[in-house]
Amino acid sequence: MSSYIALFEDEIRNLSHRPRLLFHACCGVCCVYPLLLLDDYFDVTIYYTNDNIYPEEEYDLRLRELERYLSIISYRNIGLIVPERNSPAFLRKLEPMAAEKEGGRRCFSCYEMRIEESFRYAYEEGYEYCGTVMSVSGRKNADYINRIGSECAAKYAPVKFLTADFKKKGGQALNEKLNKELDLYHQVYCGCPFSLR
Ligand code: SF4
Repeated sequence: MSSYIALFEDEIRNLSHRPRLLFHACCGVCCVYPLLLLDDYFDVTIYYTNDNIYPEEEYDLRLRELERYLSIISYRNIGLIVPERNSPAFLRKLEPMAAEKEGGRRCFSCYEMRIEESFRYAYEEGYEYCGTVMSVSGRKNADYINRIGSECAAKYAPVKFLTADFKKKGGQALNEKLNKELDLYHQVYCGCPFSLR
């Protein structure tokens, strides 16, 4: 069992109330299983900060599919915040690492900017927890994600990071199964123009 899973389970076992969680998410397809799991313990609001996604049509499509999923599970009452977008500035920061392989330094920076922006907003708005859906994907580096989250929690205390690895313990397989049933749009590249190439 992944230690991130053990830490996640410890965290939810020790909850004494239903805290507010700001949850970074990048598409509908990744969210299916994690939202069903989290909504049992947290008051969840999704934060769609994804300046990495290129082009605009793809960003809009992923957002629409996320909204479609939220409407399917509307009985869960999960919120959605879409912050102002500045994709050119974000992608300029990744450009020097354009040739890096997926999963390397460029992705670390990409996770870091989006997780940090989520923490900044969570801090300003008084959320107790901040987390991200990204670890549900087998292509995302859970060590990077959890390291960045811990560092942000130290910087933006008292906001806590929700350590997780949603793909573990059958999470990825369950997410894929649920997705097939819902027929949500499944992107064929991660998001940035470098992954599209
Ligand atoms: S491949 Fe994905 S995670 Fe990596 S930099 Fe591009 S959009 Fe970000």
